[in-house]
Amino acid sequence: MPNEFDILIIGAGHNGLVTAGYLARAGRRVLVLESRPVVGGACVTEEIFPGFKFSTTSYLCSLLQEKVTRDLELEKFGFAVYPKDPAFFSPFPDGRYLIMGSDTAMTCREINKFSARDAERYPQYEEYVDRLARFVEPLLLETPPDIARRGFADWQGLAGLGRRVARMPAEELIGHLHILSQSVRDFLDPWFESEQLKVALATDGVIGTKGGPYTPGTAYVLMHHVMGGVGGKRGLWGFVRGGMGGITQAMGASARSRGVEIRTGARVAKILTKDGRATGVALTTGEEILARVVGSNADPKVTFLKLLEERELPAEFLASIRAFKIEGVSMKINLALDGLPDFTCLPGSALAPHHKTTIHICPTLEYIERAYDDSKYGRPSARPMLEITIPTTYDPSLAPAGKHVMNIFLQYTPYTLSPDVAPNWHALKESYADLVMNMIEEYAPGFGNRVLHRHVLSPLDLEQDYGMTGGNIFHGEMSVDQLFFLRPVPGWAKYRTPIRGLYLCGSGTHPGGGVMGAPGHNAAREILKDWKKLAR
Ligand SMILES: Cc1cc2nc3c(=O)[nH]c(=O)nc-3n(C[C@H](O)[C@H](O)[C@H](O)COP(=O)(O)OP(=O)(O)OC[C@H]3O[C@@H](n4cnc5c(N)ncnc54)[C@H](O)[C@@H]3O)c2cc1C
Repeated sequence: MPNEFDILIIGAGHNGLVTAGYLARAGRRVLVLESRPVVGGACVTEEIFPGFKFSTTSYLCSLLQEKVTRDLELEKFGFAVYPKDPAFFSPFPDGRYLIMGSDTAMTCREINKFSARDAERYPQYEEYVDRLARFVEPLLLETPPDIARRGFADWQGLAGLGRRVARMPAEELIGHLHILSQSVRDFLDPWFESEQLKVALATDGVIGTKGGPYTPGTAYVLMHHVMGGVGGKRGLWGFVRGGMGGITQAMGASARSRGVEIRTGARVAKILTKDGRATGVALTTGEEILARVVGSNADPKVTFLKLLEERELPAEFLASIRAFKIEGVSMKINLALDGLPDFTCLPGSALAPHHKTTIHICPTLEYIERAYDDSKYGRPSARPMLEITIPTTYDPSLAPAGKHVMNIFLQYTPYTLSPDVAPNWHALKESYADLVMNMIEEYAPGFGNRVLHRHVLSPLDLEQDYGMTGGNIFHGEMSVDQLFFLRPVPGWAKYRTPIRGLYLCGSGTHPGGGVMGAPGHNAAREILKDWKKLAR
């Protein structure tokens, strides 16, 4: 006799857990099925080497929606964040460095080392970006209007958006148009003259993105990364207590407290349908589980191209899903260290403020653009852009006493390699990681001797171990043609799908990737709206 639930969620990534939590809160009987042995998807803590706990994939928190944290009572279940402040440290090849943080006076003193004009302008820039972010933020928890079918509610949504735009001061409207269309370089150039400041700010514009700082549209990615905040400070990021898994463990506990059942090690092989309606799922073990509704936290390619048969979906829709851009360009290296790095520009390996930041190794915009150029032709960057964090500088419980864990997030490592580079990423990743180690050594001599263990995740590993197609960290590119009412594809941005009773609830939907919980929150709302119509 098959099991029967109100709702099945495929995947216990943070978004799947958020959807489950909200649906259970509304009294529904929910089962979450996760193929990995742990919950969390790309928001997880894993003890890869004995005693060393890593945020294996995502490593910093800022975008998680306050409403989600509050509604699901995550703090009651152990969620806590240490604000990362100072925020950035950029060592430069000429021996100089820049440190930035929430203390604007300190940041301006630092910027002044490179340009007095930029130091003067920086507070205005912060205020400007803040204003732009305040317009976009409410949209994160809204369901985009359907621009293809345009029903009454869609017209209302579009009109509401139009009214908000009409009320906006001209300077702000122009700012938004720039954000949507400009490269991050074009966005920053009118503001600042110093390369050191521009490159420190520009990294947020290219994270997870198949594009360089000269690529139109990257200004939006910058905006996406400043829309959150921690400790009441907008734009600030933080380390989660216990690693990023602290978020999903709290979400899992919160969901369970409301009756959600979560099964790990349960891989869905197929979404079951009857007469164009989802009826449940079949696991790889052959077990079938039935439900009134199925929600998929898997990305759109996995959901529609792997878990359903081609004949079950309209040809036009399938073509759009096939065209959905999802090629990843990021790699993660997790290191166990027996001490902190000793930077030439700020000597010493005793804990100091610069160790507590995001450390950027990418001296100029052109450097990042050239790193991107390599990837266009299937080559990993000869000199990649590195973003380094050391969470044990806030949370020593992640490693044995006196030891540290380090995250190195880097670009550009294209998922599809040119055949003359290597047959695949499994053959290349360790030698490429050696190149990265040597690059850090240039700025912090002796660094290599501090490394006790190394764990490398290539884009292929992100796909094979974490289920992210193409190793794309956002479940699909965050380019303007794949955002808001175009995400994942035009006409299907309202979490619904051409299969009745099947919903998407992961980062492949609006507002996209990052540990936000917004797609999961919005999908739950839409499922509950349709609930009565979905009665059998
Ligand atoms: C290396 C890396 C670094 C990142 N850094 C940051 C960061 O610092 N901060 C930030 O905010 N964001 C970061 N991100 C992005 C962020 O982690 C992701 O966008 C986000 O976690 C995706 O969440 P999700 O719930 O939508 O999907 P996922 O976390 O991908 O969850 C989907 C789940 O579905 C499961 N699944 C898939 N198919 C099946 C199936 N057939 N059966 C059962 N289960 C299935 C998967 O195993 C997975 O657990 C990073 C991502 C990566 C990879």
